[in-house]
Amino acid sequence: MSDRLDVVGAELDFTHLDYAASAPCVRAAADAVRDLLPYYGSVHRGAGLRSQRSTLAYEQARETVAEFVGARDGDEVIFTRNTTDALNLLARALPEDTTTIVFDGEHHANLLPWPSPVRLPVTADPVQTLRETLSRVRGQVLVAVTGASNVTGEIWPVHDIAALTHAYGGRVLIDAAQLAPHAPVSLADFDYVAFSGHKLYAPFGAGVLAGRRDWLDAAEPYLRGGGASLSVGDAAGDVVWATGPARHEGGTPNLVGAVALAAVCEALLQADRAALDEHEQSLLAALPEGVTVFGGTRPRVGIVSYAVPDPVTVANRLGREHGIGVRAGMFCAHPLVRRLSGTAAECGTGGLLRVSFGLGTTHDDIDRLLTTFDALGVTV
Ligand code: PMP
Repeated sequence: MSDRLDVVGAELDFTHLDYAASAPCVRAAADAVRDLLPYYGSVHRGAGLRSQRSTLAYEQARETVAEFVGARDGDEVIFTRNTTDALNLLARALPEDTTTIVFDGEHHANLLPWPSPVRLPVTADPVQTLRETLSRVRGQVLVAVTGASNVTGEIWPVHDIAALTHAYGGRVLIDAAQLAPHAPVSLADFDYVAFSGHKLYAPFGAGVLAGRRDWLDAAEPYLRGGGASLSVGDAAGDVVWATGPARHEGGTPNLVGAVALAAVCEALLQADRAALDEHEQSLLAALPEGVTVFGGTRPRVGIVSYAVPDPVTVANRLGREHGIGVRAGMFCAHPLVRRLSGTAAECGTGGLLRVSFGLGTTHDDIDRLLTTFDALGVTV
């Protein structure tokens, strides 16, 4: 592994297995922030050296992210706060009368922003389920689907979903919050992708919405204010809005977050991702399978959830008594977790126990977890 992808803080005597919530920061991000801070200044506004350097760094970060997502002509990259923000942005940019289709297995960030979505049950064959719906829906369609589940780690059949949706003239958004840290995601195959820096080994509140420019340029600005407006007249409402990313990035942008995120994208572009995946798959193989939607038929990223009694207590004991950080609960995917945990659990009391990992995770970490499960009498 290149040292740019070394985890900052790996030497600490603590086993972090909660990457799906927030991944640790890698060296590429930390170095990029350190190098930027002496020049840190206002983006797009000043004539001074700091502002010029900051503007350049911000726009270079955008270009790097464009490369990371395989942006085509006619695509744009908008920096957002996180995936939730990116999905809300696109939800507000939908042309009138667009039907959004989602599956029930989504994270709430991809269930709740859409106006009156068609919600499909999660079945063993989501492509067939979608086909039946697409054949009935008229007009513009957006299918918004997770790349990899934040509950089971399963990679959804997004390429088949995209091919089908495109055959019906629709568009596809991939919620890549969990997929992008583990596998390449390309706009060559999809219309929009969204992801978060803090799950992609970069700290600080930056995320991305990337994809087709036409809806975004035609939409009302997401954040109205300076930067989003080209000129403002004397009369109320007399505004000429910018087009391009600026239209939706009103206010002073999160330069540090964008630069850190882009630095990780660049390091991942240069990395041998097949080798990283191979290591991750060997860690997955060392763990019991956990709950699944597709019964072991789909490839997975490093996320496994277990239906155990009282998962919150188990997670608390692992964290407080054994220095192992995992997560318990509903993972902001209540419909799916209710189904997979077999309970009507409320947030904070029941749900599942989730183990998630990535860059920097070792077989020792997994061994330590499994040994501690044994010591606590937890059967997974
Ligand atoms: N989608 C998925 C699949 C996620 O796992 C998450 C975060 N748990 C989100 C969206 C939301 O990400 P954020 O909190 O960074 O907005």
